[in-house]
Amino acid sequence: MQTEVPMSTTDEILKLDREHVWHPYSSFLNAPVVYPVASASGCTLTLADGRQLLDGMASWWCTIHGYNHPVLNDAMQSQLGKMSHVMFGGLTHEPAVELAALLVDITPPSLNKVFFSDSGSVAVEVAMKMALQYWHSQGKPQKSRLLSLRNGYHGDTFGAMSVCDPVTGMHHLFSNNLTQQLFVSAPVAGYDTPWDESYISEMQQALDQHHGELAAVILEPIVQGAGGMRFYPPKYLQRVRELCDHYDVLLIADEIATGFGRSGTLFACEHAGIEPDILCLGKALTGGYMTLAATLCNTRVSDGICRGEAGVFMHGPTFMGNPLACATALASTRLLLQSDWQQRVHDIKASLHKGLAPCSELDHVSDVRVLGAIGVVELEKPVHMATIQQELVNEGVWIRPFGKLVYVMPPYVMSAEELERLTAAMVRVVSDPARCFEP
Ligand code: PMP
Repeated sequence: MQTEVPMSTTDEILKLDREHVWHPYSSFLNAPVVYPVASASGCTLTLADGRQLLDGMASWWCTIHGYNHPVLNDAMQSQLGKMSHVMFGGLTHEPAVELAALLVDITPPSLNKVFFSDSGSVAVEVAMKMALQYWHSQGKPQKSRLLSLRNGYHGDTFGAMSVCDPVTGMHHLFSNNLTQQLFVSAPVAGYDTPWDESYISEMQQALDQHHGELAAVILEPIVQGAGGMRFYPPKYLQRVRELCDHYDVLLIADEIATGFGRSGTLFACEHAGIEPDILCLGKALTGGYMTLAATLCNTRVSDGICRGEAGVFMHGPTFMGNPLACATALASTRLLLQSDWQQRVHDIKASLHKGLAPCSELDHVSDVRVLGAIGVVELEKPVHMATIQQELVNEGVWIRPFGKLVYVMPPYVMSAEELERLTAAMVRVVSDPARCFEP
């Protein structure tokens, strides 16, 4: 017998959400306001009550082509008719192989092996495991620690968390379970700051002192994202690469946020012209349609691992190389490469510069910075989330600040008029302390 399940009203959905559903970094005791989304198209989210919000977040760096894109929809539908999933152990398929070949083609030349996984955090776990297994196979198992940057962010699983900023990552909460990694201060200089060798001295000292126990340096190239939205000079990255070579330590570049054009180059490593040994990709890989990530490495790392004691790389997720996700990623990446993305990102950069400039006049703003299609307004003190979120929604925009940061990284397809609307709304809210801070 079939029973009719009545459709829930929006109020019922919200009630059930409050009772049962965790949201990112949320509490059930002080449940945050959440906005039910009914649909999304282009750069616009439509809420269940009909309100429309212009999306400044690209769903956390992902939706570079906008929502509900016909090319991506077609790619998914066509793959669905063939198979949505098949195990990857002992089997292979066109979407995964073609995607791997394309990623090898567009990333730095020495990276030629691709490991697919489910999410950014897992891609980081895989990268760390690659580095550890590599040194084990070299007869140097003592090279087992990671060196990371303060203000870094690499994900929420335990390995990834161990290399996130210890303060914002609340390492003390998990100290019994987290590997104790090494940290150096975040780069102090901005993207354009003229180079001074003192900027690299702490990194140099740490490598000099600890290289015997270090498997790898892990960092987000050029843009430190969730740990502070900070931009640093390409020279810093070049010097890290040189130091890693000198001290025989691998370099892992986490381009989960910066990959696929966001910083103005296809991959942020290109600002510095360097090649990491291991590269993590995620987020915009599928244009924000599906969860998929990839960890690439060079032959030195892959051969090293495969010649080691295990003889194989010890990882194999159930949904590895998911065909639906790979087909979508292939379509998204081809769409990006066929588009005039460099011009788009350049135009967005100019719009953000112009649109956010009024914020730099404000007493309670400490910095306004733009790189590629990323615009950041840093305030003197942390925002009051509930207040500012409501104010931004009232202005018809979707921007999700954190800490002292009100920032946007819009879809690349956002029009000049929409960008103007987005930044104008941001300026209006940020200009009024009553709309940002504790009431
Ligand atoms: N690394 C970086 C640089 C990120 O920005 C993120 C996500 N914000 C991650 C790793 C983790 O990715 P995910 O949330 O998909 O696990």
